[in-house]
Amino acid sequence: DIKNANENYFGSYGSFGIHREMLSDKVRMEAYMKAILENPSLFQNAAVMDVGCGTGILSLFAAKAGASRVIAVEASEKMAAVATQIVEDNGLWRNRKQTRECGVSSGIIEVVHGMVEELDKSIEIQPHSVDVLLSEWMGYCLLYETMLSSVLFARDRWLKPGGAILPDTATILVAGFGVGGTSLPFWENVYGFRMSCVGKELVKDAAKAPIVDIVDANDLVTSPAILHTFDLATMRLDEVDFTARTELEPNLHNPSNNSNSVEVEASWCHGVVLWFETGFTSRFCKESPAVLSTSPYTPKTHWSQTILTFGEPIAVASRKSVTNISAPVGSHACPAIKLHLRLSIARAPEHRSIDISLETTGI
Ligand code: SAH
Repeated sequence: DIKNANENYFGSYGSFGIHREMLSDKVRMEAYMKAILENPSLFQNAAVMDVGCGTGILSLFAAKAGASRVIAVEASEKMAAVATQIVEDNGLWRNRKQTRECGVSSGIIEVVHGMVEELDKSIEIQPHSVDVLLSEWMGYCLLYETMLSSVLFARDRWLKPGGAILPDTATILVAGFGVGGTSLPFWENVYGFRMSCVGKELVKDAAKAPIVDIVDANDLVTSPAILHTFDLATMRLDEVDFTARTELEPNLHNPSNNSNSVEVEASWCHGVVLWFETGFTSRFCKESPAVLSTSPYTPKTHWSQTILTFGEPIAVASRKSVTNISAPVGSHACPAIKLHLRLSIARAPEHRSIDISLETTGI
């Protein structure tokens, strides 16, 4: 049930390994640092809320950037205690009792233990009084763990009209991969011996459930396409689940300068890889917009990419080449010029996971 799933989920954030992994993810850290530290006019004297503060790192950046008050909310009991200690050790602790008694406090950050959905009970703050809502909520394939709905809840309850949400866009992208994106090549030749049966079995398993792993950009056989974009500032809670359609265009292989002999090979598309980008756009980050990309074309992050393998590979070829090539060996059909995708992602809150469904047709 949902209560159990939440306990497991917040419990998992009580181990330090995962926080070390996030704090060591340079791409992630640099995007957030740029967005927070290089947009002083956004943070100067601002009231900030950090949804899911973990170690409190984003709240510390916000305090450094000049925020006058930071409310750092964390559902994991252990991490809330750790964040409190860290904030105290850095001289930024805001004591609520003290604030009430003296009316002043030198501290900036107050750590609140609890789910952001239940904040009313534990803190004195007016609804719609936060200037900047900050969160690192993204999971594998963007939506795994489905923390986005908590951020939208916080936006609707605590953010001022016109207030900033960081990041403010999230985009899921997709591209097709070739045999190099599968485990087939590795098992074909192991110290000179054929172990292809293992590769085949692994590909069969991979067709049943998505795999989180790094994909080399050289293994992509189509151009990338945008699958779906969320506007965090305006989207509704019921828009988290979506169905999107897009078309993937095969990459041109061995492009030849000599137009008389277009020797282009068709290739096999073994599946699609998904990744996401979040934007700290100039809508709110006017001085210095930033992008956090988890794409196969840019340095890797702890999110890797998400790999969906087809049951059977699909032959693809570029438009230019399709007239004078034959299908790749073993293909029964003519290679597809475009790969149509229909992909839906739906939350499965009782497991805090997501269901992905994918349909493809080549034409
Ligand atoms: N902001 C930190 C941690 C990000 S991980 C950093 O950038 O390093 C996300 C954190 O959000 C986890 O610690 C998790 O326990 C917390 N969290 C997830 N959903 C939450 C909710 N609904 N309310 C409060 N905290 C939540």
